[in-house]
Amino acid sequence: MEILKAQNEQVSIIGGGLAGCEAAWQAAQQGAFVTLYEMRPVKMTGAHTTGNLAELVCSNSLGTLLHDRGTGLLIEELRICGSLLIQLAIESRVPAGSALAVDRDKFSATVLAAISQHPRIKIIRQEVTQIPDGMTIISSGPLTSDDLAVNIAQLTGKDRLFFYDAVAPIVSGETIDMEKAFSASRYGRGEEDEGDYLNCPLNKEQYSSFINELIRAEHIELKDFEYDIQHGVKAGGSVFFERCLPVEQLAGRGEKALAFGPMRPTGLTDPRTGRWPHAIVQLRHEDTKGDLYNLVGFQTNLTYPEQERVFHLIPGLEKALFVRYGQMHRNTFLCAPEILQPSLQMNTRHNLLFAGQLTGVEGYAGNIATGLLAGINAARILADKPVFIPPTETMLGSLIRYITSANADHFQPMKANFGLLPEIQVANKRVPKRQKYQWKAERATKAMQEYWNAWK
Ligand SMILES: Cc1cc2nc3c(=O)[nH]c(=O)nc-3n(C[C@H](O)[C@H](O)[C@H](O)COP(=O)(O)OP(=O)(O)OC[C@H]3O[C@@H](n4cnc5c(N)ncnc54)[C@H](O)[C@@H]3O)c2cc1C
Repeated sequence: MEILKAQNEQVSIIGGGLAGCEAAWQAAQQGAFVTLYEMRPVKMTGAHTTGNLAELVCSNSLGTLLHDRGTGLLIEELRICGSLLIQLAIESRVPAGSALAVDRDKFSATVLAAISQHPRIKIIRQEVTQIPDGMTIISSGPLTSDDLAVNIAQLTGKDRLFFYDAVAPIVSGETIDMEKAFSASRYGRGEEDEGDYLNCPLNKEQYSSFINELIRAEHIELKDFEYDIQHGVKAGGSVFFERCLPVEQLAGRGEKALAFGPMRPTGLTDPRTGRWPHAIVQLRHEDTKGDLYNLVGFQTNLTYPEQERVFHLIPGLEKALFVRYGQMHRNTFLCAPEILQPSLQMNTRHNLLFAGQLTGVEGYAGNIATGLLAGINAARILADKPVFIPPTETMLGSLIRYITSANADHFQPMKANFGLLPEIQVANKRVPKRQKYQWKAERATKAMQEYWNAWK
């Protein structure tokens, strides 16, 4: 690979997690001189337990390696692009079937060795509270320290930096039963009478039994550092609002709480009965293509198996495929569609890039991917070279475009999934979903290989 001429150029990277370490390596490989700031072990977060670089905070699995799964395809693309962390994860692998699970200590140790031995990377163990003026990548993660978060919020505007995930489940559009669901906006206020929402109607009995199951379902206990979310008090400089309460907590306030809240049927006439149903669950487009839908107002803390069990009781969603489960936890992230360009540069300050969970991607592989992109681009921008933005046929290209162009009003973090990729045109409508995923995966890896070869 051509090393850029900008040998004297500096990049400051804040946060030595998954994204920051990948970014540091990529920027240095491009020829930039990198200073990587990591505050641990001097100052710890509420979830990390060591001072290790690239500590995996929870699971030791980076996800599946199967190419016809979102994460598996992204990992393959990262491998093609020479990701350091994916290579070291493969070298630290422990047996886990088709998943890329690692010995977390070995993984962190090899990352530290590679980064600290790189001639163009310096590591400083220090909390950064002010954003540096020069070329900078902020990759301080979901548990960004409070002082830095305040600084980021000053740059982005307070309402464009979020401190928690209150996420409703997302389902695949093609798995919704349209014999039961119907399109309509409240009082027909959608576009051209088509209706912007899908609505799943419930009669009185269906509503009662759904509420009963929802209240009794098992939920996830929040950790100490996430406690604020549940109690609607200050956390990370932000206040949590009533509208972010988990749907099961709202349901627990009384039999009719949801029927008068997110499940209210007013203004939604079911074309099959000509009447408003007793209650409805509304589904809103999650992507511009209309392949993904989120359950409006259904942010939840139920365990994943319980979400499968209880939400499949909703008429029309009996066979729905959940591409993402609902969840509520502490998470610092930007309103990326309003703040970031696909290069991960900030719209209003081009020498400031973001990477990792802060950008609104999810999952270890997604965080590594944005680190790779931001690291390469920071060095390329310094050297006045075109930026690296893979085509939309690739998982990385689609993911980046999603986070930077999604509807900003409802933006929630996203992980790699096949619903983000452009459709494959096939004459035979009965081709099984897995076959289509296989074809999309082949198209993606080919597109990434060609783009990478031409670009480097
Ligand atoms: C509790 C928890 C569990 C998770 N479990 C999983 C999981 O099992 N699987 C999964 O795929 N994803 C999981 N995630 C989501 C996400 O994938 C991980 O958090 C991932 O590590 C994020 O990568 P990152 O590089 O953005 O942030 P991190 O890996 O957290 O790295 C950010 C780094 O920045 C440092 N830092 C913060 N502020 C400053 C500052 N001011 N100055 C200097 N350094 C600073 C932190 O110490 C940290 O090392 C989890 C998240 C949390 C919070």
